[in-house]
Amino acid sequence: MAPRPYKPATQKTLKTAIGCTGTGLHTGARVSMTLAPASPGTGIVFRRTDLSAEAGTIAASWRNVVDTRLCTALGNDQGARVGTIEHLMAALYGCEIDNAIIELDAPEVPVMDGSAAPFVFLIECAGTVDQAAVRRGIEIRRTIEVVDEDCRLVIEPARGFGLNFEIDFADTAIARQACELEFAPGSFKADLSRARTFGFAQDIDRLQAAGLARGGSLDNAVVISGNRILNDDGLRYDDEFVRHKMLDCVGDLYLAGAPLLGQVTALRSGHRHNHKLLTALFADPAAYRYVDLPDGFLMPRPAAASAGLGLGAAD
Ligand SMILES: [Zn+2]
Repeated sequence: MAPRPYKPATQKTLKTAIGCTGTGLHTGARVSMTLAPASPGTGIVFRRTDLSAEAGTIAASWRNVVDTRLCTALGNDQGARVGTIEHLMAALYGCEIDNAIIELDAPEVPVMDGSAAPFVFLIECAGTVDQAAVRRGIEIRRTIEVVDEDCRLVIEPARGFGLNFEIDFADTAIARQACELEFAPGSFKADLSRARTFGFAQDIDRLQAAGLARGGSLDNAVVISGNRILNDDGLRYDDEFVRHKMLDCVGDLYLAGAPLLGQVTALRSGHRHNHKLLTALFADPAAYRYVDLPDGFLMPRPAAASAGLGLGAAD
């Protein structure tokens, strides 16, 4: 069979603005959010509508990460923050949205059901449009590794985007879970988007006493007490916990500003490691390069085909 002629992927944005309201997981604050179309090259930009445009604009970039303790929070030099961005970022990645303005009237993205599925639903309701600009990805050219006590996160060169994750919580309903996923069209929605955030009952009591996780409940998290899952309906995937860790990683890594082409391997990693990985990657100019993406999900063109086309990779 003859190879398909090369056709570049175009950037995408939303066809129309669409909104929702919900509660912030950590602040407990009621929040209205609107996902709005944006012009090519904008990227994903958060805008706090309760602040002035100058004070309340924060680009969704790893450079703007200000906290990774319980969620990933972004901030700007004027002191504005937006927390719990990772599930929304994962949905934008999974739906291949390059450009969007995210308007919020409070400092936290609504938690919805604790997964990315409600955001995928919103994006699908709004629809997407192709834009007159080529979609670019970031090709990993050298292995980058973050090791932190018994946690490990690695990204290495690969043809597409793949995740291989393992978590390990002794003496709980989670125990050891491992999951491997090679991304293809539809795989984010089917395989990761519905995985909810989770917490331990005793930690939630402690966090709420400290004024955190104020919006957390059985409606937006899987809650574990020892070997029991307290949610009446049980789990959405047998290995929902490790899949949620993968969802978080997809969202955090989209703060690279473009899709990554690499294989991610993770052991007990979290938001902090995801941010450290991007910081280490972008500190090493030889570790990555920008490439034009072909039509289809995230597969770079073969190296031989990129010679002489003028559209090829630029360092
Ligand atoms: Zn999460």
